[in-house]
Amino acid sequence: SISQRKRLLELFFDEHSYLANVDRIFLDSMNATTTLLPPDDVDVNEMIANKSSYNANATVANQSFTLPWMTSSGTFIINGVERVPLIQEVKARNAIYVSSVTDEKGLAVVATTRFSGAKIPTRLVLKAREIYLDVSAISRQLEEYGDDDDDDEDVLPKITTKIPLATLVDIFGSRIDVVDTLEGMGATGATLSMLLASLRPSDMEVPPNRDTLRENIFNLPLDDMELIDDIIITTLLYMFNECVLVYFGKEPSSRDNYANKWLKTSGDIISPIVADVISRKATNYAKALDAKLLSMMRTGNITVGKRTYAKMVVQVSKRSTFDVLSSVRKIAIPCDENSAGVGMRQLHPSQNGFICLSETPEGKTTGLVKSLALTCVISPKLDTPKILQRVLRWIQRQREKVHVHTPATQMSSLQSPIIQRRASLHRNLDTSSDDEPTGVDATKVDEMLRALYDETKYVRTWVVFDGVVIGYFLSNVGDDEVYEKFRNGMKKRYKYISVSNPSKLIVEVRTWSGRPMRPLLVVSDTSPVDWRRVRKCKSWKELVSNGLVEYLDPSETNVVEDKIAGLGYDGDFSKFKYMEIHPCTLFGIPASLIPFANHNQSARNIFASSMIKQAMQLVANPPLYNEGKYLVYGQRPLVDTITADMLGLNDNPNGINLVVCVLAYTGYNMEDAIIVNKSSVDNGLFLSMVRNVHNKSTDGDVFYDGDEMLLVEGDEAKKVTAMKLPTQQTTFNGVTITRTTPPDMPSAHDGRLFVKDDEYRALSVGDKIASRHAQKGIIGRIMDTNDMPFTGDGIRPDIIFNPHGIPSRMTMGQLLEGVVGTQCTIDGSFFDGTSFNEDLDIDAILEMERNNSRELYSGMSGEYMGDHHLGTIYYMPLKHQSKDKVYVRWIGPNELFSRQPVAGKKKGGGLKFGEMEMDAMISHGAANAINDTIRQSDMCKISACDTCGLFPAVEDECGVCGSEDVVEMEAPYSLKVFADLCKCANMLMKVKVE
Ligand SMILES: [Zn+2]
Repeated sequence: SISQRKRLLELFFDEHSYLANVDRIFLDSMNATTTLLPPDDVDVNEMIANKSSYNANATVANQSFTLPWMTSSGTFIINGVERVPLIQEVKARNAIYVSSVTDEKGLAVVATTRFSGAKIPTRLVLKAREIYLDVSAISRQLEEYGDDDDDDEDVLPKITTKIPLATLVDIFGSRIDVVDTLEGMGATGATLSMLLASLRPSDMEVPPNRDTLRENIFNLPLDDMELIDDIIITTLLYMFNECVLVYFGKEPSSRDNYANKWLKTSGDIISPIVADVISRKATNYAKALDAKLLSMMRTGNITVGKRTYAKMVVQVSKRSTFDVLSSVRKIAIPCDENSAGVGMRQLHPSQNGFICLSETPEGKTTGLVKSLALTCVISPKLDTPKILQRVLRWIQRQREKVHVHTPATQMSSLQSPIIQRRASLHRNLDTSSDDEPTGVDATKVDEMLRALYDETKYVRTWVVFDGVVIGYFLSNVGDDEVYEKFRNGMKKRYKYISVSNPSKLIVEVRTWSGRPMRPLLVVSDTSPVDWRRVRKCKSWKELVSNGLVEYLDPSETNVVEDKIAGLGYDGDFSKFKYMEIHPCTLFGIPASLIPFANHNQSARNIFASSMIKQAMQLVANPPLYNEGKYLVYGQRPLVDTITADMLGLNDNPNGINLVVCVLAYTGYNMEDAIIVNKSSVDNGLFLSMVRNVHNKSTDGDVFYDGDEMLLVEGDEAKKVTAMKLPTQQTTFNGVTITRTTPPDMPSAHDGRLFVKDDEYRALSVGDKIASRHAQKGIIGRIMDTNDMPFTGDGIRPDIIFNPHGIPSRMTMGQLLEGVVGTQCTIDGSFFDGTSFNEDLDIDAILEMERNNSRELYSGMSGEYMGDHHLGTIYYMPLKHQSKDKVYVRWIGPNELFSRQPVAGKKKGGGLKFGEMEMDAMISHGAANAINDTIRQSDMCKISACDTCGLFPAVEDECGVCGSEDVVEMEAPYSLKVFADLCKCANMLMKVKVE
């Protein structure tokens, strides 16, 4: 069934075509704001080449302004640079979340959620003596928006920051029996007595405005006001009950659980900013948007709440397929990277299958920047109002059905104790209305409730819809049939909906966008997976609509965690509900390209994930105006993975299969350096091409001394002559320039001239190459073929790799790849090295190693060096080439403060000649060269006083002691800087002139 699973993944990638075509990363999961989408005929590459912004014209309230357009991949073109806001991982909004805080005033429990149409969250706070709704945000918001609006005037004074729960029960609870509802939620005596404490007459002088509350906090897409009131009160009571449970020791909601996370994508990040600018009624939208949105996109600083976070927008580099995919599927947590704790960085079990367990940067942002796993998609916007109506209707029908089909005796046993209970509690309520809740004995109420549940055959199951409790249905105790039927019905109709039952008392429905979801195979009752039916399905859509595959979000996988069968499971399937499509879906895109990754030390897979993105890739036809480094000659890996095939890596490879000898040889491969066979380099090993594109205006003269020139103007190539440029060939400043007409002429380039300049580079000493197991190294020597070691049958390796790289790094995957790869070269075959392949026969691989070992001879002395196995391993050339790093400086800019040369190639600066470099020079017997270096750096003439030893400003007379014994000396300017700094620290530095 391995081939079946492979086919399933193929169908998945066909459906979510982002993997097949880099430029069309699945739009439906990016929650694109439609107004930001450009027309179909806009070419992204063209916009980049033109260095233009990618603008959509919008008109709001007779004001026209421009917005950056969103490309189909969810990226934006700002001044010719393609940028993408990273997916932000924040706390989920439309879900009930309970947390507890302990401060000097004692324990406080806070439950939050948000009604789907609300401007501010619902925040219920429970403290020892009070239970109230925190509406401080509402007053803040009205202050922010209501500066010149008269309507807000009479609203503002009525809003207080705390509304007691009792007041809200008074306002909205007319139709709901509070005690009955709480009992139905399984509330204990403690809950009830705490409620009684809060049911005293409200202290509020002015009751809050009901409509204001409905509009700002309790806003639901429903017309039935009475129903909304019921929902408001049920939700508040539910949150209250949860608060009480946490108050008395229940675990609060988990902060790191992925069910409590919301992944904000481009649309979700940008639309509030646009909405905000428009709501502020600025006089100039364009200016206001430019200040907020465009500067955010340019700088990468995004404001979330009160804080601003840097690097939240990244530039999409088109260096390789994986690089692009990776930047679009990257997730960042908006937080301060210096103070972020370990918990935030760690993998939480609920992330399994949603987040790649290997791909994360090294250093400060470890664990704070993550990537989506291979088959993880982000839920798009669903028709929430419609689904809400449907669920409400279902609840209604369900309750009617129970009443109709229940024998009269059962109904009376269901209802009578509730009525009795209610009556007695109401009596208690009346007597204790002004006092402390001593009138109710908690244990007694508990006892009675337990008795009630024993008697009752039915259990109330509360339906939590997007963080709001909309009602309950009744089902038999210990029977999930009603729930299962409901869930299957909803799942069949809406593929991105989430329905789960974390407990017998709750069914949770989630419809909001930005939930990570992953597909799982549905296990049927009879067989593990109905492969016959799976085979019949021609597309992924068919699989989903036939119920063979379901999308689950973390709130669902949390519940069915132990009902997901792994790949190798072959036992009793009756206790399982789902099955993994393939375990390699644990990984994201780069990590799933590592063969035998499950045999490597996990840190190596993390490094490899970021290294794969740096590899130069062979691109059959690089876009004319895309700058970059390309591999000229590539091979598809002999040992590949399923995803490599699907990503098109086999068509656009990023490396070559090399014959590798693991040997310490001559010392030129010490410390991760690599010796390369010269004849391999001569044959084009890792030959690369660097493409530079020069974009010039055609106004005035154009000078360019490249060997090829591309000229584009308007829609036609004819216009070239109008510029007095040559028709075919001419000489400019003694350089011959050829004009070529591109076959695919881009439109709308007016008056721009593109000059393409391709440079071919052979592999040279200092270039960096790496295997897919993060065994990176730089070329230490390109060795003459005759000096390379050779086997008895005359094979000389392409590279020599130092054995010291293996024991401490434990990249067993690389050794396996080497052995299997060599067998592939012998058989002329390919090998599927996908991780977690249960069919992998390690004994057979060991056998290959023995069979393919040969006697090895030194190429220099000819002596026998023992039996060796030459592995065949896929190596990638990385973009770091020594030619880009090497630079010299003679005269150039200096720093103002220290007068030392600036550092860095781009600034025309120098290379730091530090302590270690100095030692190296001395060891080479070139000590005098150090003197030269120092003299070039910041030598200057400084006056020094022979009498007092200070540095007078003038040459003829010392300003400090008046002596005329001033000499001019040559010294590094750093000496004077040091003396001045010493003065600042109250220390006097004196020189003695000799
Ligand atoms: Zn002096």
